Amino acid sequence: MGPETEDGHTTGCFGGFKLRFSRKSLATRTLSTSRSGLAPSKPSEKMLAPSQHFDFGVPSGWGLSAEQSSLDSFLPPYTTQMNASRTNGVVDSMAGKTINSVLDELEPELYQLSMDIHDHPEIAFQERYARDTLTAFMRRHKFNVTSGYLGLETAWRAEYSYGNGGKVIGINSEMDALERIGHACGHNLIAASGCGIAVALKAALETHDIPGRIILLGTPAEEGGGGKIILLQRGAYDDMDFCLMSHPGPGPLYSFDIGATTAVQTFEVEYLGKGAHAGAAPWEGINALDAAFLAYSSLSVLRQQMQPTHRSHGIVQGRDWISNVIPDNARLRWQVRAPTYDEMSILAQRVRKCFEAAALATGCSVSIDEEPPYQDLKNNPILARIFGQIVQTQYGQNVTTNGSAASTDFGNVSYYLPALHPLYTIPTEPHGGNHTPAFTKASATKEAHAASMIATRGLALTALCVLQDDALFLEMKASSVAFRSVS
Ligand SMILES: [Zn+2]
Ligand SMILES: [Zn+2]
Repeated sequence: MGPETEDGHTTGCFGGFKLRFSRKSLATRTLSTSRSGLAPSKPSEKMLAPSQHFDFGVPSGWGLSAEQSSLDSFLPPYTTQMNASRTNGVVDSMAGKTINSVLDELEPELYQLSMDIHDHPEIAFQERYARDTLTAFMRRHKFNVTSGYLGLETAWRAEYSYGNGGKVIGINSEMDALERIGHACGHNLIAASGCGIAVALKAALETHDIPGRIILLGTPAEEGGGGKIILLQRGAYDDMDFCLMSHPGPGPLYSFDIGATTAVQTFEVEYLGKGAHAGAAPWEGINALDAAFLAYSSLSVLRQQMQPTHRSHGIVQGRDWISNVIPDNARLRWQVRAPTYDEMSILAQRVRKCFEAAALATGCSVSIDEEPPYQDLKNNPILARIFGQIVQTQYGQNVTTNGSAASTDFGNVSYYLPALHPLYTIPTEPHGGNHTPAFTKASATKEAHAASMIATRGLALTALCVLQDDALFLEMKASSVAFRSVS
């Protein structure tokens, strides 16, 4: 990708964290409107103010409500009802204690690792410092490391095997930052957490004679470029039985969410026209900027006819624009999101027509490139339940399944194998969620690191649970097949 493409760095990820949607809230709102009868002729100030019952875009983040804090009432009915003692047992087991004591010891080192990555932000496919720092850490902990993996210079793989056979645990460490605003999505925390999970599990395997294999992938370009999708297509996930990672966001502290994220399609649209003197002979020009603005206007109009759970957003860019020359080029980097891949695909077709119509109206030529879509996230219900129970009962966390209007390339991974990607909250200032400078600051705090460590412990213990319980392992595999058939 060229620099202009990378400029529009919001392909996936958690920029939309605050714009979490809630179908329940929508239903409530619709009902109360119909009860109140006709709307007053003039909107009052009060009506224009955000309603407490209107749950889209809750500024405090996920806006968890008390009624949604019970894990049991949210998981789908086909989910196995698991006795909490099954997960408590793993925490209190010798191997569980090993995981926790290793992470106690490792915690300061993981904080340094996270801060080091935070202090050296690198954008998509340029994560060389992060790659070298993280792979050096994994080598020190006696993992077999491949630096530069499957044709991606900044991807890497760290592997450890103990005994014969056993199950294969996959883990992901994201590394990329955002142009200009650095680690505004907290991938430094994710990177260190992945290393912590892998090292703690290694200790559990070798100390307690548990056969198994651990594969930690350093995955580039989540914010744009879909590094995990490329790795998936090239077989990086083929030998894993399941895959784990976590992600920070804003919201009430001590909270985890194990709901879905949205599917997203990114377009790169280029209009080409003809330059001319804007004063002397504008009729000789074909205005590519006009095409971009017409497209933008059509897209803005379309927004009113979209579902509230859908998103459409982007930017306009151009080369060598001067006010007294008719612009001969203009680009749109545009993205659409929806809760499911199918819904998103329909929206993408409608958006495409807006691009084409603008070319027709202005006489410009247009090229429309579609990047590989990020699918919605399908957390495996068994993994989600184990993890939820562990962090709820052992670490006193609130666990919900509200989901997020953001997106991740891990969604594609979750369609391919059992996967878990819990979201956890870190302290940040009001309206300072992901993809803001405030979140860059928040991602470097000790409090954020402490929250990340709970995610790290919870994920390592979840993996241990599945490693040691064959019945659970089979249930996990079976519950993932249902998702695959959906895709
Ligand atoms: Zn992110
Ligand atoms: Zn992000």
